[in-house]
Amino acid sequence: MAERIIEGVWWIPGLDGYLPDSHMYVIGIPADGDFTLVDCGLMDKGSYKLEQIDKCGVPLKQVKRIIMTHTHLDHIGCLPELLEAIPHAEVWMHKDEAVPLERGDNRIAFGNAMLEMMVRSQRSFADDFPTRKVHRKLEGDEELSLGGIPFRVIHIPGHSIGGIGLFNEEHRLFLSGDTVYADGAIGRFDLVSADPVQLKQSLDLIVNLRVDILLPCHNRVVHSGGDRMVRLARDQWAPYLVR
Ligand SMILES: [Zn+2]
Ligand SMILES: [Zn+2]
Repeated sequence: MAERIIEGVWWIPGLDGYLPDSHMYVIGIPADGDFTLVDCGLMDKGSYKLEQIDKCGVPLKQVKRIIMTHTHLDHIGCLPELLEAIPHAEVWMHKDEAVPLERGDNRIAFGNAMLEMMVRSQRSFADDFPTRKVHRKLEGDEELSLGGIPFRVIHIPGHSIGGIGLFNEEHRLFLSGDTVYADGAIGRFDLVSADPVQLKQSLDLIVNLRVDILLPCHNRVVHSGGDRMVRLARDQWAPYLVR
């Protein structure tokens, strides 16, 4: 299942069920011995994700951090399972979602009251779920070196308040979270902490990145020409992205 996108970037597709499961990306040049996971996925997908990480040839002891593009349940739900297997990994995310999560406020994670009720009717959670310690709170514009590959953190709120993307200039490669997908699709903008006007501004910002390789967290990945799809998404959704 896992697929190498470029040297040092792997895609682990989500396994959708009655709820979607986000993709995971694994970043790091093997010789560097420093790997990063981007997003985890839904609850109960931990063993699948761990098996796929192993198939990428990435030793768990070399996984140094988990970066969350945002904290919706289909991305953070299996964080506790992964941290059980990789207890030394740090958790990084944008401060606007880290602060409520650390306080025990899970409203952003569940998305809305109806989704929370639906999920809780199928499954029980520890009281603090999915609250975890956040080791680094990002603000946007940080220049990171992830296992030898440079990435800039781009704050792209709108789908959720602390949504971030990771941009690699050399390959014009962009991990877009749930903000923009292939084929002109965008993330929902009706959930807790979403904001359609911010989403429009974030899409404008992504258009300016002139993305080639577009790596969203659901549906297919785009190996080249991501730019056209981002522009299509921005143009066709702009009329709806108003307050
Ligand atoms: Zn998602
Ligand atoms: Zn989401």
